[in-house]
Amino acid sequence: MVLNLPEKVQAFLQRVGPLYVGGRFQEAQDGERFPVLNPATREVLATVARGKAADIALAVEAAEKALQGPWGRTSPDERSRLLFRLAELIEEHAETLAALEALNVGKPFIEARTADIPLAAQHFRYFAGWTTKWTGEVLPVSFPGQYLAYTRREPLGVVGAITPWNFPFLIASWKLAPALATGNTVVLKPSELTPLTALYLAELIEEAGFPKGVVNVVPGFGEEAGAALVNHPKVAKISFTGSVEVGKAILKQAADSLKRVTLELGGKSPNILLEDADPKKVVRGALFAAFFNQGEVCAAGSRLFVPKQRLDEFLEGLTQAAKTIRQGHPLDPASQMGPLVSEEHRARVLYYIHKGIEEGAKLLLGGEPNETLPGFYVKPTLFLAEDRHTIAQEEIFGPVLTILPYETLEEAIQRANATRYGLAAGIWGEDLRRAIRVAHALQAGTVWVNGYLLLDATSPWGGYKESGLGREMGRYALEHYTETKSVWVNLA
Ligand code: NAD
Repeated sequence: MVLNLPEKVQAFLQRVGPLYVGGRFQEAQDGERFPVLNPATREVLATVARGKAADIALAVEAAEKALQGPWGRTSPDERSRLLFRLAELIEEHAETLAALEALNVGKPFIEARTADIPLAAQHFRYFAGWTTKWTGEVLPVSFPGQYLAYTRREPLGVVGAITPWNFPFLIASWKLAPALATGNTVVLKPSELTPLTALYLAELIEEAGFPKGVVNVVPGFGEEAGAALVNHPKVAKISFTGSVEVGKAILKQAADSLKRVTLELGGKSPNILLEDADPKKVVRGALFAAFFNQGEVCAAGSRLFVPKQRLDEFLEGLTQAAKTIRQGHPLDPASQMGPLVSEEHRARVLYYIHKGIEEGAKLLLGGEPNETLPGFYVKPTLFLAEDRHTIAQEEIFGPVLTILPYETLEEAIQRANATRYGLAAGIWGEDLRRAIRVAHALQAGTVWVNGYLLLDATSPWGGYKESGLGREMGRYALEHYTETKSVWVNLA
C-alpha cells in the first residue's frame, strides 16, 4: 500500500524551483533548471534552478550585505529567538518535510519523520541556546593593573555550506545552526540529487523572519555552483560534508586564500561483537548499523567483526533476520528499506558487490538489484570476507555488510584501525569494562557501546584520519565558526 501524496507535499512540488537569494525566490541568472528524481519510481518530482557562478556571486553579495547590515546589528538574544522560531516551524512542518525527504532520497518516511527532521529541529534549538553563552574571557596577563586584556568571539563572515544527498535536511541544520548562532551568514549549496528540503527550509527561514540575505540557498552541481562557492574570495569558510575525494579537492582549492575549512567525509566503520555479545541484542543492532538509510550512511557499521568461535551462530542469526527486511516505496508504511538515491549510485554499489564475488568473498545473501520494484533497489547483501577484499576496505555506501571473523580481541582492534578512515565504531558485549577499553583503543570520532548511530546535537561529530577535519555538533562546532580576537587596553 502506497500513501497518496499529502496535499502540502503536492503544493510544494508545484511551486518549488527558484533558488533563494537575498530573501527572494528567483530563477538562475541564465534561466536553466535541472530535473530532480524520485528514486523509487524514476519519475521527475520537480525541476529546480541550476545555480552557477553568477548565482553564487549574487548569493555571496547578499550574504555580505546582510552581515554588514541588519544581521551584524542583531543581538545574540534576537538570534536566539529566530533560531527557536525556526525550530518550531520545522516541527510544525515535520510531516511535509519528512515526506519530501523520503520521496527525494528514497529513505523510508518513518525514518525521516523520527530521525532526520526532529534531530534537525533539536539542532536549531540547541544552538539557539548558545547565542547568549558563547563568550570570550578576561585574561590574567602580566603587568597587574596596567592592562585589561580580554578575548572576543567574532563571526567569520560568509560561510559556504555544501551538503550531500543522504541526509540533506539534517546535515544542512548541522551547518546552519552553529553558523547563524555565532553571527555568520550562509550560502547553502545542497546536493544536485536532493535539493528539495533545502528549498523548503528557505521558505521556513523567510517565515521565521530572518533578515534578507542571512541565508541563501543555491541548488546546482558540484563543479559549477559548489566550486564557485569554494573559489569565491568573499567566502570566509567552507563547511563541507561529502566524499573524501571532493573534500581533499576543496581543501586544496581553499589553501590559496587560507579559507577556513571543516570536512565531514566518508567512513568504513568497524562494528565489533565481543565474545560475550548477546545475539538477541546484537543481530538487530548490527543490521541497523549497516542498513539504516539503505546503508547510505557515512558512519554505517559496514565492517562487522565477529569472534571466530561464535561465527556460525551469528551468521545464522544475521542471515535469517536480514531476509525479513521489507523493501518498498518510501511512503509505504510497511517499507523498511527504500531504493538507492540514483541509477549511477546503484551501479557503483553493484560494482563493489561484483568485485567482492570476483575476489572470492562468500556471498551469504542478496547481491543483486531487486527487480520486483521499479526504482533503484539493491537487495540487502551480506558477505563473509577477509580484510584483503576491496569490499572490506572501501566505502560502498549501500546495503552491503561485510562480515570479518577474528581470533583475538587485540587482533580485532588492530584490524579495525587498519583503514584510512576513522569516523565511527561500534562495540557490543556484556562486559562493559572490556568494551570501554576497546572504545578507547579505536581510532574513531564517535564510538557507540551496545548501540549504533546515536546522534544528538550535544555530542560532537567528526572523523579521525581521512574521515574529516574539525567537528560538528556540540560546543566544539562553535570554535569552527568564530575567530578569537585578543584585545589589550592600556589602563595607565
Ligand atoms: P560528494 O562529495 O559527491 O558531494 C557532496 C557535495 O559536494 C554535493 O553538494 C556536490 O554537489 C558537491 N561537490 C561535488 N564536487 C564539488 C566540487 N568540485 N567543489 C565543490 N563542491 C562539490 O558526496 P555525496 O555523494 O553527495 O555524498 C556521499 C559521501 O558523503 C559519502 O562519502 C559519505 O560518507 C559522505 N558523508 C559524510 C558525512 C559525515 O558526517 N562525515 C555525512 C554524510 C555523508
